[in-house]
Amino acid sequence: MDPCAVFSPDYISARQRFRDAAAALGWTLEAHPIGAAGPDGEELTIDVGYSSAGDPQKTLVVSSGMHGIEGFFGSAVQAALLEHWAATTPPSTRCVFLHALNPFGFSWLRRCDENNVDLNRNFLLPGEPFEGTAPAYARFDPFLNPRCPPSPWEPFTLKAMLLIALYGMPMLRQAVAAGQYGYPLGLFLEERSHRVCRNC
Ligand SMILES: [Zn+2]
Repeated sequence: MDPCAVFSPDYISARQRFRDAAAALGWTLEAHPIGAAGPDGEELTIDVGYSSAGDPQKTLVVSSGMHGIEGFFGSAVQAALLEHWAATTPPSTRCVFLHALNPFGFSWLRRCDENNVDLNRNFLLPGEPFEGTAPAYARFDPFLNPRCPPSPWEPFTLKAMLLIALYGMPMLRQAVAAGQYGYPLGLFLEERSHRVCRNC
């Protein structure tokens, strides 16, 4: 198989290819609309395909497109697997494939979702509260999320060095990279976008 041939040119083609390939294997398909539209007005959905073979206690789960635009790669992996199985032997293991966890980012070529949220730091268990921030986030907020554009002479490096000297690199790294629920205009605000996946 030509590796390039499994890459789709856009979200809507990728979605159709995923659905066709899963249907060809006899898998059950679901489509969960997210209530947003793509650049051409197309409906955006998280699509799920699953087989009924094998022991449900041993299920292979393959998702794609958590970070929107990265869906081109993940969708290609899913298409390659599904089409390979259709041409050879379907797997004896039960499979659940989730296509485009962030269809908005996939179709609009963005990492974040329709609410400008990065979905990747948000895996809470049922019952865990959607609240809180890293302990040091408040101290770093003005630095990470300036309220106005930087001046031409913005001393970004100096400010960063001062903060690192004061609080340490691990604290700054934690504040930058972790999800948070307390600063709606800040980096890595998280939300409840995983509901669809949990209910599949
Ligand atoms: Zn990613």
